[in-house]
Amino acid sequence: MKKITLIVPCYNEEEMIDLFYSEIQQYLNPNYDWWMVFVDDGSKDKTLEKMRALAKQNNHLKYMSFSRNFGKESAMLAGLEMAKQLNTDAAIIIDVDLQHPPVLIKDMLTHYEEGYKHIYARQRGRKNASFLHNFFVKTFYRFYAFLTGFKDMENGAVDFCLIDRDAIDAFLSIKDYTRFTKGIFSFVGFEKKCLDFDCPPRIAGTTKWSFVKLWRYALLGIKQFSRVYVLIPSIVSILIFLVLAFDITMGIINQNMNFIALRIDAFAFLLAMTLRYLTILLYDIRDQGLHRPIYIQKETNIHDELPS
Ligand code: UDP
Ligand code: MG
Repeated sequence: MKKITLIVPCYNEEEMIDLFYSEIQQYLNPNYDWWMVFVDDGSKDKTLEKMRALAKQNNHLKYMSFSRNFGKESAMLAGLEMAKQLNTDAAIIIDVDLQHPPVLIKDMLTHYEEGYKHIYARQRGRKNASFLHNFFVKTFYRFYAFLTGFKDMENGAVDFCLIDRDAIDAFLSIKDYTRFTKGIFSFVGFEKKCLDFDCPPRIAGTTKWSFVKLWRYALLGIKQFSRVYVLIPSIVSILIFLVLAFDITMGIINQNMNFIALRIDAFAFLLAMTLRYLTILLYDIRDQGLHRPIYIQKETNIHDELPS
């Protein structure tokens, strides 16, 4: 029997854990050996207590709790590492708030059996999200696909996906400190299948994403998987060269070189901008070089009664 592990990142989700757990049961096809991995991303509410209680009822339920909030990307990484420790054949990453409809699991398994290694869900648009949110998400994915060439991430792909063992191993071999999970899955390749769904509103709890957080996340994705930042110093130097050539020509014609002084502020601005991007890139290299852990574990039951 193939072993499938559900990976469920949770941050301040005390209201959702039990709801999710009881709702998901009906979608767990008995022809598979099901495991669950709950990752508590440093919640401040009773999320961890809820996980401990469920683990007492079900010995196929593993959990890990972080020492603080490290972000969903880190929670997904920890979940996949635990799934590998459980020697899983495939893993399904799913949000605990039931905004990723579990009904899709059936189709994911069908395509998994057909040989697809990465089956991911794509949302058609959130009914309850603001126009600005939907517009922003749509534009980001288009822009991202254009910049990176990763066409399989267009129009609202979410983290909800089934990944087989080969894709899990490939994913875990990517050691990026700053992790952009969707980009990593596009980078590792493999046979992919996309399933569309309508995103339902949250039943309980609140979204952990503010507009600023989303914006930062979008920039991170672009930085991690495109070379667009490299173009910035080149564009700035071309601009500076053109303006300088114009100034010198005008200075010679007018016999008044003071014209150049007027442009100094503009140059300073452009140079400062270039320096800013270069500094960001240098900090990325520094972060990677420091080898800091991507998350810190506070508690886990992964070693209790591990399967042979
Ligand atoms: N989440 C997490 N760490 C965070 C933020 C969110 O593990 O720092 C989890 C959260 O508990 C949920 C999933 O990631 O299971 C998606 O979060 P949310 O519902 O806030 O995002 P949205 O659906 O609004 O994109
Ligand atoms: Mg959600």
